Amino acid sequence: SPPRPPAEDISPRDVFIAVKTTKKFHKARLELLLDTWISRNRDMTFIFTDGEDEELKKQARNVINTNCSAAHSRQALSCKMAVEYDKFIESGRKWFCHVDDDNYVNVRMLVKLLSSYLHTQDIYIGKPSLDRPIQATERISENKMVSVGRVWGWFNLGWMEKELLSHCVGSPLSQHPVHFWFATGGAGFCISRGLALKMSPWASGGHFMSTAEKIRLPDDCTIGYIIESVLGVKLIRSNLFHSHLENLHQVPKSEIHKQVTLSYGMFENKRNSIHMKGAFSVEEDPSRFRSVHCLLYPDTPWCPTNMVY
Ligand code: UDP
Ligand code: MN
Repeated sequence: SPPRPPAEDISPRDVFIAVKTTKKFHKARLELLLDTWISRNRDMTFIFTDGEDEELKKQARNVINTNCSAAHSRQALSCKMAVEYDKFIESGRKWFCHVDDDNYVNVRMLVKLLSSYLHTQDIYIGKPSLDRPIQATERISENKMVSVGRVWGWFNLGWMEKELLSHCVGSPLSQHPVHFWFATGGAGFCISRGLALKMSPWASGGHFMSTAEKIRLPDDCTIGYIIESVLGVKLIRSNLFHSHLENLHQVPKSEIHKQVTLSYGMFENKRNSIHMKGAFSVEEDPSRFRSVHCLLYPDTPWCPTNMVY
């Protein structure tokens, strides 16, 4: 889609970026982010974790111990998202963005993208994880039954889609189906303050966790449910957000500097990262985040000088 004209003049300080992490990834993943994109954007970045770490507090400005469980369970992850939401509301900032600890955020492009909307409008922007909406079942309050979910045309879905959806739905039966799109948390997504305030009855305090339990979906799906199904606001799709559940080799080299988020990790049982010839070799920089960082901020002390990109 063509670039949109600016609608509002915002600065990085207007954006709240929540980075979700867990104690075991402080060294393994966060350090790379602190060395790269976070180092240039300390005031806008808030790290949400589940364990105390004095070293991390020295390196990062805003570290929030959520006291949520360190398990990779649905409840633990929605507990973190609930704290992210509450801290954002408390911060008074104009935009909430969520990313994982395996995302690189190109803050210049993020601010540019958000500037093309008004933070007072209802904006939910990110990359849908599928090419069709998810269908889930609301747990009807008087019914003690566990909720179940269903996906349209399950058998027509590819391997990756089934894998993705299996996180979001239970058995292929349903009673009171709802369908909606959601932005995948692993690619990052943003919500305007105007919309975030409307989400409050389902997202603030303990409400986010009870909403997630009602539909039995993970945190990012629950966000999509509240916005699309409850509030009737549509997800704005952007191809500038990237998770490692897509083939990152397909991001064109000449367009890397225009992306809002990048990622690295596993895809179809293979290592997945963007493909670029940069300042560092694949062995030195398997995620390619250090090379991307030198492309975007060539004056970084540890970047080679006189690189021709
Ligand atoms: N994560 C977490 N608690 C855990 C495991 C993971 O908060 O017990 C976070 C992790 O730090 C990352 C996100 O959840 O920000 C997704 O984790 P991961 O990348 O390992 O999984 P995947 O991308 O395959 O869902
Ligand atoms: Mn991941």
